[in-house]
Amino acid sequence: MKELVVIDGAAGEGGGQILRSALSLSMLSGRPLRIEHIRAGRSKPGLLRQHLTAVQAAAAVCGAQVSGAVAGGQTLEFHPGPIRAGDYEFAIGTAGSCTLVLQTVLPALWQAPGPSRLRVSGGTHNPAAPPADFLQHAWLPLLARMGLHAELTLLRHGFYPAGGGSVEVRVTRGSTLQPLQLENRGALLECRAEALIAGVPGNVAERELATVARRLDWPAEVLHIHGLPASHGPGNALQLCLRHEHVTELFTAFGERGTAAETVARRACNAARDYLASPAAVGPWLADQLLLPLALAGGHFTTLEPSAHTRSNIAVIERFLPQRFGVEQVAEDCWKIDLK
Ligand code: ATP
Repeated sequence: MKELVVIDGAAGEGGGQILRSALSLSMLSGRPLRIEHIRAGRSKPGLLRQHLTAVQAAAAVCGAQVSGAVAGGQTLEFHPGPIRAGDYEFAIGTAGSCTLVLQTVLPALWQAPGPSRLRVSGGTHNPAAPPADFLQHAWLPLLARMGLHAELTLLRHGFYPAGGGSVEVRVTRGSTLQPLQLENRGALLECRAEALIAGVPGNVAERELATVARRLDWPAEVLHIHGLPASHGPGNALQLCLRHEHVTELFTAFGERGTAAETVARRACNAARDYLASPAAVGPWLADQLLLPLALAGGHFTTLEPSAHTRSNIAVIERFLPQRFGVEQVAEDCWKIDLK
């Protein structure tokens, strides 16, 4: 019987990522988990639909015994069994983020004895979560370099609060794992702005793109409107994609009622500018999402100043695995995160 790991969900960032990472690590290590004070740092603490679906997905993938998986629950026990490949389908039932549910179970499925297929329905483009395009263009390509393969298809966009989106992922067992060596991003090869718009007046997208042109000095040929059926909305997101030689980054800002299109665009532009002003290879979001794969494959990357998400995620990983991370500032606005 492996030793129980007790995690304080209120520590550090105090959000849903602590729960999701702990579930992934419990599955990978086979160690039972007890997590207390789940999402205590959030205004509505406890398990929301997205987190409950992540718990159910994790339990399905490894036949876990679970107690405390109830809406609003703040304490959960999770006793994992062996990881099983399969054909899985999970419906969040709200606009909760599909990508966060996927990220919970992917690490386990890379260790499964065979290939798997997963479908998750809910939100695909949610504030405060990685959009499906981010997984496709930024996160998964870096993981493929480590030998962790998954192919994501965005079947239908889903925005907060309506939801209704879905993604499908085909996962194969991790091949021989390669450490990630990501010192710098290399030369800029391409930039592209895409304004997603569904059931929102078209001039919102035009104003967002005009702001990008003005603030980042990007030419008209890299600015695109991606119109979606009104029935997929209402929803609007502005995605700025920066493709460098060694890494692709995606900075997203979400339209919301009562916020001017120019303000939304300014948020995305500021994130892209902060990144471009630093010599670091990856931005703050990619950084916290690379840590678990790095714990599996080894290696290092450089990033902007580590966020509370990054520091909390390191602390959770170090509770389950013997690996240790080094975090060291190596230049102005540039930190190196290194698996020891
Ligand atoms: P809560 O904060 O309500 O607990 P949560 O379950 O969504 O919610 P967090 O702990 O905040 O969880 O984790 C959010 C995750 O989404 C982090 O991994 C973060 O890197 C990622 N993320 C947030 N915004 C973006 C973005 N714009 N692009 C890519 N990833 C993002």
